[in-house]
Amino acid sequence: MSLLQLQGMVKRYGGLVATNDLSLDIWPNEIHAIIGPNGAGKTTLIHQISGTIAPNQGKIIFDGVDITSVSMHGRVAMGLARSYQITNIFQSLSVVDNLSLAIQARTGSSMRFWRKAIDEHALYVEAQTYAAQIGLADKAQTQASALAHGEQRQLELGLTLATQPKLLLLDEPMAGTGHEESGKMLELIQTLRGKAAVILIEHDMDAVFKLADRISVLVAGRIIATGDADYIRQHPEVKKAYLGDEVSVSDSSTINAQDAA
Ligand code: ATP
Repeated sequence: MSLLQLQGMVKRYGGLVATNDLSLDIWPNEIHAIIGPNGAGKTTLIHQISGTIAPNQGKIIFDGVDITSVSMHGRVAMGLARSYQITNIFQSLSVVDNLSLAIQARTGSSMRFWRKAIDEHALYVEAQTYAAQIGLADKAQTQASALAHGEQRQLELGLTLATQPKLLLLDEPMAGTGHEESGKMLELIQTLRGKAAVILIEHDMDAVFKLADRISVLVAGRIIATGDADYIRQHPEVKKAYLGDEVSVSDSSTINAQDAA
């Protein structure tokens, strides 16, 4: 069964149709990239899935439940989390304290929780585990404000993971990161494989083609192709939308160059 089903999603901005009768199934635990030229409707789609904006038409089924009218926070509670939006880093707190707060928010623990030293210890241990998972074990006690840009993004991902999502929406996780940092982020997203489904929007095509189990190509609000990396590279309409028929799409970075243009 699909974890997420988008059925006939329409979002209009005045006369402009940003997502045009868009349907898509996301499978449990897959990394699914959505790519497409600037203005194709990728961000609009993510906003509709997270609940930031409502579609004009269409239905969203998550984990068997119609969530089309469920609030963003309701969706997070059901296991649908968007990184870089619902999570706010407390800059004056350490990495491990930030993660502890995110865990507490998930478990809804009250003051009663804190009375038990053993539970406090369990919280700390869990926070340390997340710190290690996001590659910040050695920075666990570092104040968030002292982290490099890429490390802050790692922490943001950690805060989202602490909500134990079934589906994680990653909107350009590599944006603004340097070569080394984006390599780390790529590794980190790899570690999510099998733990949660991921919808990834990313302009770095090398990353997309390395990470994604399936890729959907969005052009002018419609998905023109969905499949694995090889299928997408060879797809005639995808070639046409990005490059024109005469150019080979075997080099994924070529797509990136055109896409960013
Ligand atoms: P990019 O890769 O450049 O981020 P995108 O694929 O994410 O683009 P969207 O940002 O979803 O595309 O935009 C889709 C279309 O909807 C664009 O034509 C954009 O100008 C338009 N649009 C997006 N948000 C709004 C808004 N709030 N009001 C009016 N038009 C909007």
